[in-house]
This record gives sequence, C-alpha cells and structure tokens, in this order.
Amino acid sequence: MKRKSLPQVPCPICRKMTDWYDNPYRPFCSERCKLLDLGAWASEGYQVPGEPAYHEPSAGEDEEQEKPGPEEGEDDEGASI
Ligand SMILES: [Zn+2]
Repeated sequence: MKRKSLPQVPCPICRKMTDWYDNPYRPFCSERCKLLDLGAWASEGYQVPGEPAYHEPSAGEDEEQEKPGPEEGEDDEGASI
C-alpha cells in the first residue's frame, strides 16, 4: 500500500524529490545542494539590476565645432560671379 506521503518538492539543483517537511534544507534535498545553489547565485556576481548608468553630459562646447557646415569657397572662388 502506498503511504500517503508528505508533500515533496524536486530539488532545484539535482531534481531529486525531497520531503518538504522534515527537511532543514528545503527546498533543496541536502545541505550540499543548498550550498551549490548559493554558490551559483554568488558566482553570478553582485550585479545590481537597474543601476543607473548615468552619463553626465560633459560641459564642453567643443562638440559644437563638429557640426557640418557649408564649406564655402574652397576651390570655386568667383564661380558665382
Ligand atoms: Zn539536490
């Protein structure tokens, strides 16, 4: 007869079904998997999502010099006369 078992959850690490209750390492099956998960999480680095990549606009007026302007009188001087 199948005993009505306690709810079980698959270990996120090794997919082994493990008791939900009576399991100090839930949802992991063991301390090892728990540590593995923590390690995996930590190995991704402390990336803060949404950290403002704010680019302070340089207060430089030099960029204005890059504007394309009409090149006047380069080699057709007097052509319009
Ligand atoms: Zn496991």
